Amino acid sequence: MSVLIKGGRVVTAADDYVADVYADGERISLIGESLDVPADRVIDAGGKYVLPGCVDPHTHLDLPFGGTVTIDDFESGHTAAAFGGTTCHVDFVFQSHGSTFAEALEQWHGKRNGRAIIDNGFHMAVTDLKEGGTVEELATLPDQGVTSYKLFMAYKGAAMVDDETLFRTMEAAADTGALVMVHAENGDAIDILVKQALARGETEPKYHALTRPPETEGEATNRAIQLARVAGCNLYVVHVSCKEAVDPIARAREAGWDVWGETCTQYFFVDYTFLERPNFEGAKYVYTPPPRPKENQEVLWNAVRTDVLSVISTDHCAFTWSEQKALGRDDFSKIPNGGPGLENRLQMIYSFGVREGRISLNRMVELLATNPAKLFGLYPRKGTIAVGSDADLVVFDPEKEVRIEAATQQSRSDYNLFEGTEVTGSPETVLVRGTVVVEGGELKVEPGYGQFVKRARFGEELKPASAPAAA
Ligand SMILES: [Zn+2]
Repeated sequence: MSVLIKGGRVVTAADDYVADVYADGERISLIGESLDVPADRVIDAGGKYVLPGCVDPHTHLDLPFGGTVTIDDFESGHTAAAFGGTTCHVDFVFQSHGSTFAEALEQWHGKRNGRAIIDNGFHMAVTDLKEGGTVEELATLPDQGVTSYKLFMAYKGAAMVDDETLFRTMEAAADTGALVMVHAENGDAIDILVKQALARGETEPKYHALTRPPETEGEATNRAIQLARVAGCNLYVVHVSCKEAVDPIARAREAGWDVWGETCTQYFFVDYTFLERPNFEGAKYVYTPPPRPKENQEVLWNAVRTDVLSVISTDHCAFTWSEQKALGRDDFSKIPNGGPGLENRLQMIYSFGVREGRISLNRMVELLATNPAKLFGLYPRKGTIAVGSDADLVVFDPEKEVRIEAATQQSRSDYNLFEGTEVTGSPETVLVRGTVVVEGGELKVEPGYGQFVKRARFGEELKPASAPAAA
C-alpha cells in the first residue's frame, strides 16, 4: 500500500514549504516537488497543511482512579485522539501498592491489546518501592521500551510517594537513562487544607482549587528540581498551571539544568471562575492542578513561546459529569479529578495560539509533536515529516470552521471543557504509518491497528522499525 499526498504545505518544527509526500508502506520514502510516482492512493492537499501527527505524552485511558474508572478506554480514547490529529501518545501504567512493575505492565498491555487505533508507549507510574517493585526492577524497564518514570508528589493515601521514593527513583533514572516525570504539588499540605475545608462545611467544587493553592505547586516543582539536580537525572514537570511553577523551571533552564516542563491545553482557556459555576457544573473543571486565576494564562503563553515550557499535552483523564463527577456532589474531595481533551488540542492551539499570533505554526508543531517525540524517545520515527520517519500525517484544513461540542465528540465523556467554542482549522485526513485512520469524519481502521512503541532512552534516537534496504 502506497500513498501520495499532493501539493500540501508541509510544516515541521523547522520548515514550511509546498511539496508532495510519498509513503510506500509505513514510512515516508520521498518528499519532493511534483513527484511522479504511482501510488495506490492519492490525497489532494492543495490549500491544506501537512503536519506531523501530534504526539500526546500525557493521557490516562482505562485508569482506575478516584473510586471509578476513566470513561475512555484505549478504543474510544484512540478514536478521539485520531479525530483530533494525534497519532501517538504515551499513557501511564500505574503500579498498585504491593505489586511489581512487571505485573502492572502486563495489566496495561491487556488494556490496549485489540483496542488500539493509534500507536502508543507507556510511562511507569512508580507508587511503591518498599513492598512491590524494587529499584532493581525499575532498572529493567528501559529495555522493555518504558523509558520514563512518573512520580506523584500529591494524592496522599493513594498515588503519592514520599521524598525517599522520589529520590531513589531519581537516582535509578540517572543510572538507567530514563526520564523522571513529576506531578508537582505538596500533597501533605493539600491533605491538611482539604480536611480543614471539609470540617468547615466547604463542599462545593470551587474548594478543589482553594485547597490546592499555586504555592503548593510552586514548592513541589522547586523541590523536584533541586532533588533531580542532586540525583543527576533528567526531569520533566507535567501539567504546569501557574506562575509559581513556571518561575522555578525558568530559573533551572536559565542555569542550563536538565529540566523541562509541559502545560496542557485547558490551562490556557479554563480559569478558576469556571469552578464557581452553579448547580455542580463546576465539577466539570475539577482536575489537578486546578484551573487557576486568569492572569496565569498569559504567563503560560509566554512560557511556551520562550521555551520555558516545551510541550503542550492534554492530561486527558475523562469522566462523565452526570454520573462519575456526581460521586462528589456533597464533597469536592470525592469528585474524580480529570477532564477530557485528547480530541481538541490541535484545534484549540492552532485557533488561539497560531491564528491569534501568540506562537508560530512551526512552534505549534514543535510543542504538539516534535518536542514530545524528542523528550520521550520517539524521535525521529515520530514527531516530524522526514524520509524514514513513520508516515504519521495530518492533512489539516486551516480554514475549516468547527463548533466544539460534546454532542459530536468521539470521547465517551458527556461534556467538553471547551463546549461551544468556535475554532477555525481542523484535521481533515489523518494517517498512522501510511494508513488512513480518519477521513471524511469517519474512522477507517479496526481496533487493533495501533502498535505498541518501545521507546528509546532519553536523548537517544528511535530508529525506524524496518530500516531501508542497503543499496
Ligand atoms: Zn495526568
